[in-house]
Amino acid sequence: MSSGLSDIRIGLEIHARLCTESKAFCSCPNRSGDPPNTNVCPVCLGLPGTLPQPNESMVTLAVVAALAFSAAIHSPSHFSRKLYSYPDLPKGYQITQFDSPISTGGFLRYRGRDQGIHRLPLWRMHLEEDAAGLSYAEGNVHVDYNRSGLPLLEIVTSPALTQPEDAVLAAKELRRSLMHLGICDGRMAEGSFRCDVNVSITRDGRDSGRSEIKNLNSFAAMRRAMQWEIERRNEMTEDYEENVTLHWDEAQRRGEVMRRKESVHEYRFAGDPDLPPLHLDVAIPEKAGAALKELPVDREQRLLSDYGLSANAAVLLCDNTHAADYFEQTMRCRRNSSEPFAALAAKWLTGEIPRQLRAARLPWSEFSVTSASFADLLDLIMNETLSDAAARTVLETMIVSGGEAEKLAQTLGLTQIQDIQEIDRIIAEVLPRVSAQVDAWKKGRKQVFTYIMGTVLRHGNGRLHPATTSERLGAALETYGETTHNTQGSN
Ligand SMILES: [Zn+2]
Repeated sequence: MSSGLSDIRIGLEIHARLCTESKAFCSCPNRSGDPPNTNVCPVCLGLPGTLPQPNESMVTLAVVAALAFSAAIHSPSHFSRKLYSYPDLPKGYQITQFDSPISTGGFLRYRGRDQGIHRLPLWRMHLEEDAAGLSYAEGNVHVDYNRSGLPLLEIVTSPALTQPEDAVLAAKELRRSLMHLGICDGRMAEGSFRCDVNVSITRDGRDSGRSEIKNLNSFAAMRRAMQWEIERRNEMTEDYEENVTLHWDEAQRRGEVMRRKESVHEYRFAGDPDLPPLHLDVAIPEKAGAALKELPVDREQRLLSDYGLSANAAVLLCDNTHAADYFEQTMRCRRNSSEPFAALAAKWLTGEIPRQLRAARLPWSEFSVTSASFADLLDLIMNETLSDAAARTVLETMIVSGGEAEKLAQTLGLTQIQDIQEIDRIIAEVLPRVSAQVDAWKKGRKQVFTYIMGTVLRHGNGRLHPATTSERLGAALETYGETTHNTQGSN
């Protein structure tokens, strides 16, 4: 953005906890929710005489990420010690990768506010271990070393984003991609996906400093924190340059600003003498290559072009891998399906089906309706055998007790009545019961048509084909007086 006064540059620094069975350098389980300080051993507590061993799954997942984002993979890369003293770090250093990360470069593709696909360059991805978890209660600090040594992938992007909203969209896309690839479970509230943001502002062509915003555990918090900080900086009148760290307090909706020199430990780095250079043998890139999948952002584009879905429908669909997989299975059942059929399938898979699954407390993985039966149900809606409401009832029955769409529609008596004689018969039954409205209509109060139509549809138990019924009712009203009251003569 360039308002003349300030130019904003935003970069992301993501810590993604990797989905491995065990910790980064020991065999303790990588699991959250266990009683504090139960998943610990001499290695992750950093007791003297222990030797860390890099977890192969951790390395493989980092390579999957590098392949997915077209980054360069380095072999060997090196582990360093980031030395500082704090209660969350019993051994006095954190194992990380400093000047020799496992991967550099690459880019994240994400859908921007303009719906176009943008590229955010990545600077680096490196492996490191997590520190212990600290919590504060009743004046005490509680330390949980279960988190010590959990494997993290830190992803640093270039500060190429210019709007808070784009930064949120890029971070969401990164999270979605990592989750889709099985690299990270993405649970922000539990700290599996932590997103720090750097905001730099240039005012009147001069650098006015950089803010590092931490402690963001939701995308809403991330958006608010960036806006708050940009506003704070824009309101400053004096000419100065300042780098700050901002701890965001989501409850208070405000940041706590700390001058850089007061807030940051003076880190020192040193090569880790316990860990040899990390060479990737052939097996790791092979395994990583096998784990690679089409990214959601690519799938969206493919669904757009292959099935003519709207951008909105494709985005909604690809937000849920199960729904997107199911959509493609359904399309394979109808090889020559039309665009309206695809749009209808997407609409049901992102609206009614998730709603019914929630109501039945079923996860997607237990959605038992076959894609062939679902395609049949869509056909019945397309050829107007079933109204939307009737199709919802059929689907409900299919989810609960199985069965084929067409048979169920017949058994439940839900098929739409399109037979003109049957519709005319029902209209003829209803009109004498609403004679006051019919008279009003005859006298020119055409708006009572809606009331009469509603009465007819109710009388048909919601099964009458609406367009045909409306047409037949119009005709019936025109001739009503003539056919039933012809003895009165004068009309
Ligand atoms: Zn351990």
